[in-house]
Amino acid sequence: MTRAQPVALITGASRGIGRATALKLGQAGWAVGVNYTRDALAAEQTAAEVECAGGRALTVQADVADEAAVIAMFDTLERTFGPIDALVNNAGIVAHSMPLADMDYARLKRMFDVNVLGAYLCAREAARRMSTDRGGHGGAIVNVSSAAARLGSPNEYVDYAGSKGAIDTMTLGLAKELGPRAIRVNAVRPGLIDTEIHASGGRPERAATLGAQTPAGRPGTAEEVAAAIVWLLSDAASYVNGALLDVAGGR
Ligand code: NAD
Repeated sequence: MTRAQPVALITGASRGIGRATALKLGQAGWAVGVNYTRDALAAEQTAAEVECAGGRALTVQADVADEAAVIAMFDTLERTFGPIDALVNNAGIVAHSMPLADMDYARLKRMFDVNVLGAYLCAREAARRMSTDRGGHGGAIVNVSSAAARLGSPNEYVDYAGSKGAIDTMTLGLAKELGPRAIRVNAVRPGLIDTEIHASGGRPERAATLGAQTPAGRPGTAEEVAAAIVWLLSDAASYVNGALLDVAGGR
């Protein structure tokens, strides 16, 4: 990014991959919007660490599936730090492992509301503000997809896998739609990463057990995914657009 202090919004940044990305951007001197839903304390902690690392930070509360809250979040961030340069669509959920036949409507709806609608709403707000044909100065978007998008996750999370497939397709489409408007759009597809998401899916041991079976022989870390995200946002990736980058230890 060519601006002296570029501005990024990271959704779901209170912990895990989002938090690790916020810290790395802080080290690089960015101003970071640390989005969270309920865990205000953890978000404040992330923000404090971003500032310690040399960046600026603002915690911004919003459920990414709530349109009004998403718009207000972008407005707040821009009022504080100025025009946005980058969005990391990181917020995501899994639910308990089960075959599709056992999934209820509420689960399916929430999965697609958060993982797909949320990412689309945030990308839309970023596009409205960063597109050069709307007075913006361009920028970059990184979507956090999953290796599940190409594996399908049968008998576990076909809903989650499908939601991430939608993220891959959105990435490919927006790269072409927004490229001429000076916005690059890429995705990372993490494999088994050691974060709390597995516990919230009822499988805390999942990353360690399945990670051991990858060619890398271990699960990945949030920092390893964050490094790929930060690279995709940076000018070092200035000719990378529409990439779906596997960060999966060869899985
Ligand atoms: P995590 O559970 O630690 O982080 C997810 C974050 O999203 C949390 O901070 C959570 O509060 C936030 N979030 C959830 N719903 C939200 C909503 N409605 N609005 C705003 N924020 C919301 O897990 P993580 O592993 O760091 O996950 C980050 C991303 O990486 C997710 O999109 C996930 O699907 C993806 N991913 C993770 C793995 C893995 O193995 N950990 C693998 C592939 C993809």
